Amino acid sequence: MDHFIYRDGRLHAENVPVAEIAAAVGTPFYVYSTATLLRHFTLFDDALDWGPHLVCYAMKAASNQAILKTLAQAGAGMDVVSGGEYARARAAGVPGERIVFSGVGKTHEEIRAALIGGIRQFNVESEPEMRAISEVATALGVVAPITIRVNPDVDAKTHAKIATGKSENKFGIPIAKARAVYAEAAALSGLKVIGIDVHIGSQLTQLEPFRQAYQKVAELTEQLRADGHQITRLDLGGGLGIPYTRSNEAPPLPSDYGDLIRETVGHLGCEIEIEPGRLIVGNAGILVSQVIYVKQGEGRDFLILDAAMNDLIRPAMYDAHHEIVPVVEPDAGVDLAPFDIVGPVCETGDTFAKGRLMPPTAEGDLLAFRGAGAYGAVMSSEYNTRPLVPEVLVKGDQFAVIRARPTFDEIINRDTIPQWL
Ligand SMILES: *Cc1c(COP(=O)(O)O)cnc(C)c1O
Repeated sequence: MDHFIYRDGRLHAENVPVAEIAAAVGTPFYVYSTATLLRHFTLFDDALDWGPHLVCYAMKAASNQAILKTLAQAGAGMDVVSGGEYARARAAGVPGERIVFSGVGKTHEEIRAALIGGIRQFNVESEPEMRAISEVATALGVVAPITIRVNPDVDAKTHAKIATGKSENKFGIPIAKARAVYAEAAALSGLKVIGIDVHIGSQLTQLEPFRQAYQKVAELTEQLRADGHQITRLDLGGGLGIPYTRSNEAPPLPSDYGDLIRETVGHLGCEIEIEPGRLIVGNAGILVSQVIYVKQGEGRDFLILDAAMNDLIRPAMYDAHHEIVPVVEPDAGVDLAPFDIVGPVCETGDTFAKGRLMPPTAEGDLLAFRGAGAYGAVMSSEYNTRPLVPEVLVKGDQFAVIRARPTFDEIINRDTIPQWL
């Protein structure tokens, strides 16, 4: 459920007509709904209320300061995957003890900054990284709390580019090697082992892969405890999918996911962390674009938009499907016709949808891409020197620009000319 609905035939973001934002900000732009963000965070928080837990929002999905602050004020922790994200989380007012540091290649500098600034835990991805964290911590005279990310070798049944829990993926250590790696961790002076971490992929639409992974984590917890380790925290990752097509996809609900966690690991008495990104922000954001031209082609017609692959890369990168709806609600029963919906970038890959059935659409019409909040604005670029797409946040009947569109001068002046030119 989200808060982008038609009211009196006009698409609204909460109580604000989308067309009103378009008139003020210009297109294309992203707009997020505060109520939807909070609703999704609360669903996860409630799903785990049977025990001690922290929902750490995976901020790589959408990392605008205003989004982070909205979630942090509701009590969310943050899952960060870089020094930049760590700095962003801190700047949004998230205390170190609510930040977990994930990511396969943490540098010495990033580790140092997090240890100095305060960190809940590092999720260790490899033995060399584990040794590096111990070294940096020892040099600073502190002890780094860690979990080790295990790779449970389960098939997440998702797109290959976002599956992370198979043995051929680059993530974590093979679960079969875990006991040896934990033994080494326990012997390193700069580390305090506190738990286990797992994350098997993104956009999972079934619970079964989670069940397999979490059962393996439960077994491992018992083994590691028998080996003398204190396992008090389980970080179970993110990955719960969202419905990108309303009709035929019904991913599991956070409440069912919470029940599954309780069933598989609830008996262990551990504090539970989860790291949802997509499900919190995906349906809390839309991308709004204007039709520049309607072009009659040979055997097919095109809608050429002012948004492009640089603004929303998911269709080009992951073959992703986004619902594309007119901002003015079409009359019921109107005839639909197929269009290829494309951006103006000079690449055939700049295609959002092929043969998409649309109501009658004209130049100047506004269209909205639903489910664009996650991995949308954060993956945007200025390819073709198209200014970075702005972001807007709505709350009730208020809206605010939370990242402004840069001017051409601002873009050009980021470059510097060497003295010999
Ligand atoms: C990307 C990622 C997440 C979030 O995944 P979603 O599918 O957006 O929920 C969580 N944890 C880690 C370690 C990740 O890399």
